[in-house]
Amino acid sequence: MSDTAIYMDNQATTPLDPRVLKAMLPYFEEHFGNAASRSHGFGWTAEKAVENARLLIADALGAQSRELIFTSGATESNNLAILGAARMYQSRGKHIVTAATEHKAVLDPFLYLQNQGWEMTVLDVDEFGRVSPENLRSALREDTTLVSIMHGNNEVGTLHPIAEIGAICHEHGALFHCDATQTLGKENVNVEEMNIDLLSCSAHKLYGPKGVGALYIRRRNPRVRLEPLFHGGGHERGFRSGTLNVPGVVGLATALEICLEDMDTEQARIRVMRDRLQHRLLSELDYTHLNGHPEERLATNLNISFEFVEGESMLMGMDGIAVSSGSACTSASLEPSYVLRALGVGDDKAHSSIRFSLGRFNTEAEVEEVADRTIATVQRLREMSPLYEMAQEGINIASVNWSAH
Ligand SMILES: *Cc1c(COP(=O)(O)O)cnc(C)c1O
Repeated sequence: MSDTAIYMDNQATTPLDPRVLKAMLPYFEEHFGNAASRSHGFGWTAEKAVENARLLIADALGAQSRELIFTSGATESNNLAILGAARMYQSRGKHIVTAATEHKAVLDPFLYLQNQGWEMTVLDVDEFGRVSPENLRSALREDTTLVSIMHGNNEVGTLHPIAEIGAICHEHGALFHCDATQTLGKENVNVEEMNIDLLSCSAHKLYGPKGVGALYIRRRNPRVRLEPLFHGGGHERGFRSGTLNVPGVVGLATALEICLEDMDTEQARIRVMRDRLQHRLLSELDYTHLNGHPEERLATNLNISFEFVEGESMLMGMDGIAVSSGSACTSASLEPSYVLRALGVGDDKAHSSIRFSLGRFNTEAEVEEVADRTIATVQRLREMSPLYEMAQEGINIASVNWSAH
């Protein structure tokens, strides 16, 4: 990788903002105390930093600081929320509901619970990646204890109507967990307005450090209880034992504070760049499709399928540009993106998809360069594609009988 690489994979992780690093450094150095040490100033300093961070983040969510605990990231927050609530309320029922396009850190704990005897319903999404509130309503039952639906999708950026979803869960007496990892610091997130009982987030998706996140746990109307995953010490009001990552917690709060300073203007700036990239790719190339919702979508996200080219070949052709693909070749599994598949995108188009995700440090010049290089790469690869040639000649590829006989 060269020094001049352009980073457009901000939905996988964001670079650490230098201001966040600066705020964290003293907590690695002179203020190294354990926030649980009650008998001396080293501990008190660390505890004060953690409590300031807790207050800032809770405030941003419209919550009380006692409703927020720190974790190692969104994977842990999701696991604690889902496993913790399902187990705590299992005497009320063992039916749980989620959606097909959730992150693996939600789907896998659901599947785990299914193996343990819970019954799970996975809601379909429409062609834009949205859950329908009506489908949710008809999926809910007497014995449904928990619903988990994300705010913004990590692959296609689609935003779900969270306030409405939360209200439906509450009408039916089910708890509502929301994975807001992709939206916190980018979209308005308020646990009261959005009827959220449990909310997960992670610092490294908002220009903070990796390995730290938080979980909001409602304390009033209703008071949510969870069975902990970790036992020992009783930190974080018993929800999450373990010595706190004090520099990480400070980093999470600082990162969020910076995001909130100018969230609307910053998201508008990113949206203009994203729309410019989208316009260039869709208008200068044929057989090119937008994946996800055209409007109800994160400003940072652009997911496009380029027919007749493989995502893997695209990534190789665009050396020095960091993006990701829904192609099977780029992931550990052999199947193309399950998210695109849930939207009804065919395997061919899923294999040819690229996710560009923009962020704070991208510039207009980078957008033009990425557009130029993407267009040139697609054109070059298509020149070698007999399928593309046939399509241009008006042959319907789907109708071709490929057998030799
Ligand atoms: C990145 C991400 C996660 C996992 O977060 P970690 O902090 O890396 O464990 C979970 N959910 C969504 C939607 C994400 O984008």
